[in-house]
Amino acid sequence: MTNRINCYICGKESLTRNEIGLNKKLIGQNVKKIHCLCCLAEYLEVTEEELLAKVEEFKEQGCKLF
Ligand SMILES: [Zn+2]
Repeated sequence: MTNRINCYICGKESLTRNEIGLNKKLIGQNVKKIHCLCCLAEYLEVTEEELLAKVEEFKEQGCKLF
């Protein structure tokens, strides 16, 4: 799995595991269009800080996407 994934809105390259995990967790496991943190925050109408807090929350739950 060496695919590099870019944000489909702004084109930001090589999204991080956390960014990709958030898309899957918050939008859906089969999501094809991955947002970077910034675009995802806008899409979900939350702040980037809230998304990062979510990452920590999911990690604590032992989610394997992060
Ligand atoms: Zn973006």
